[in-house]
Amino acid sequence: MLAFGPHALALLSAGLLSGACATPIAGKRLPTTELAPRAFDQHRVIEVLPSSTAAIIEVSYYQANIEYLLEGSNRALLLDSGPGKHKIAPVIAALTDLPVTVIPSHLHFDHVGGLGEFSDIALIDAEDLRKRTVDGVFSPNSTEHLGWLDKDPLQTIRVTRWLQPGEQIDLGGRMVEVMLTPGHTKTSVMLYDAAMPALFTGDFLYPGGLFVESLEKYRSTLTMLIERMPKNVTIYPAHNGRGRKTATLGYSDLTDLHNAVCGALDGTVKGKPANAFGIPATAYPVSRRLNMFVLKWPRNPANL
Ligand SMILES: [Zn+2]
Repeated sequence: MLAFGPHALALLSAGLLSGACATPIAGKRLPTTELAPRAFDQHRVIEVLPSSTAAIIEVSYYQANIEYLLEGSNRALLLDSGPGKHKIAPVIAALTDLPVTVIPSHLHFDHVGGLGEFSDIALIDAEDLRKRTVDGVFSPNSTEHLGWLDKDPLQTIRVTRWLQPGEQIDLGGRMVEVMLTPGHTKTSVMLYDAAMPALFTGDFLYPGGLFVESLEKYRSTLTMLIERMPKNVTIYPAHNGRGRKTATLGYSDLTDLHNAVCGALDGTVKGKPANAFGIPATAYPVSRRLNMFVLKWPRNPANL
């Protein structure tokens, strides 16, 4: 269960959990109603979402990543482990006493930084990830990891599970689907809880400027999502909350983005030269709250 009952909340609001958080508070359950965000420490704010889900918001990190903890009755999933600047395992241990499997939404440094703190790490069984895994250790290359943007060293990932695209993970009373959703990167994944219904989109879709590695892959992923998602789906992104809260998106953002991607591909939407974190790009408008940067990778991005 998520150990985030009234007692834990009182500790959080008093700012007392940062030192004592490694020990789960037994017998606590996540409240069923949505609560205001509470500071865990100076680096993270926790927001309790519906259906035994919590958002961990990296408020002291300039990219303000958001990780999500999804809990069933037997086990929990953590989508992303954050930038790794400050330990995340104690945060998770304070929230749940269930076994936790970590799934990175993709391999960029700001989503895999804390993976080494966990013992159960699952990657999507896609492309050549498994082929490049030796003795259970996957080594991303610099273009997949991008750690040079933050001066982070390349890191390896010890893989304990391989997830099939479309696989349903049974958390105990809660089924979560792992979707292979290329576009931001070739092996990006999303988690989908059809009962909520909620889609956790990683960096494929968040409010603000999206970084598009492949317009064609964005189009095919968006076509699939528009067919599959119900109109009342809530989208939880991995960046750009509203200050200390998450920011949600909806079905219309999928169709807005699909229209813009199709327009960029057929030339009816014009782009402008731009610079995205030092990477040459073409910027396209999408909607009032979305725009996108289509990246033009140099031959060796590490030399940027
Ligand atoms: Zn990111």
